[in-house]
Amino acid sequence: MRSRQADFSSAGERGELALLSQIRSRAAQIPRSGLRLGIGDDCAILRPRPDEELAITTDLSIAGEHFRLDWHQPESVGHRVLARGLSDLAAMGARPIAAFLSLGLPLELTKAIGRRSPSTWVDGFLDGLLSLARGCKTPLAGGDLSESPVAIADIVLVGGVPCGKALLRSGARPGDLLYVTGSLGGAAAGLGRLTELAKSSGPAEAQPARLRPPRIPKRLEALLAPHLYPQPRIAQGLWLRRRGLATAALDLSDGLSTDLAHLCRESGVAAEVNEGALPIHPAATLDQALNGGEDYELLFAARATARVPRAVAGVPITKIGRILPRRSGRPTVTLLTGRGSQPLKPQGWEHFS
Ligand SMILES: [Mg+2]
Repeated sequence: MRSRQADFSSAGERGELALLSQIRSRAAQIPRSGLRLGIGDDCAILRPRPDEELAITTDLSIAGEHFRLDWHQPESVGHRVLARGLSDLAAMGARPIAAFLSLGLPLELTKAIGRRSPSTWVDGFLDGLLSLARGCKTPLAGGDLSESPVAIADIVLVGGVPCGKALLRSGARPGDLLYVTGSLGGAAAGLGRLTELAKSSGPAEAQPARLRPPRIPKRLEALLAPHLYPQPRIAQGLWLRRRGLATAALDLSDGLSTDLAHLCRESGVAAEVNEGALPIHPAATLDQALNGGEDYELLFAARATARVPRAVAGVPITKIGRILPRRSGRPTVTLLTGRGSQPLKPQGWEHFS
């Protein structure tokens, strides 16, 4: 992890070099298998197992676009930044080897939040990110730091997967059945509740105006958790890959209607989803389950003869539909309801739209 010396030079309580050494010593506490050399040299050195290929994904998170400083606690921002990358590894059935984090931060985010507490926004961000990293055995192996007019976090995840065994989007065939892990729509429902909470809570004292995320009352923690602290399905992805059960898989980042269309396009197939079978989160609406993004559950296809269990590593698996042949003039994805069938158009998250 390197950066220009001038960055954060006027940060007062916490200079950039101190921040770097703090990140380095905290990152060193995470177990590392596959990372030979981490933060401190010009490059990290990774050593995947001899029979492994590398799976690599990058994700950009920008304040105002992917999170809001006045809505999200810094711990949640750090968690979500890493969760997005880990979820992509889970979708490929890859084991995490290392994460690389590049941070651009306004100066105020490196300064103590309150007069009495030495803690800064970036401390909270690292708490959230490193706690998930520890839980998912993902060492932070490097990155970059810079002062920036807007908070921005770019994460790169490197995973290892046995040669030729990664779960792809492209292998689904007509007759396969469709499954999802966990429940759907919880993140969208949680975001809705967080928005209300942020709008109704008054400004906290002693914090700059744009650093005022609302405190989450205890009674709302469980409801907001799918949005604030989504759990990447690493164990489930590894399980699917080891068993060779999934013919195609991806993670639900943009919403079922959009992500299933991606899977169908890559596999050259169509699909039907049974509305009554959807594992809708208790707090969510049907629309949120179909179109709300950021659930980070896995969607996968498996042969009709495959024996798919009801749960993997404590997370339920639900059959929600099946793969059909692609026919011109027919919708790519059809929703079967009690009232008949209708096309399910991609209405999830799309950038630049
Ligand atoms: Mg993905």
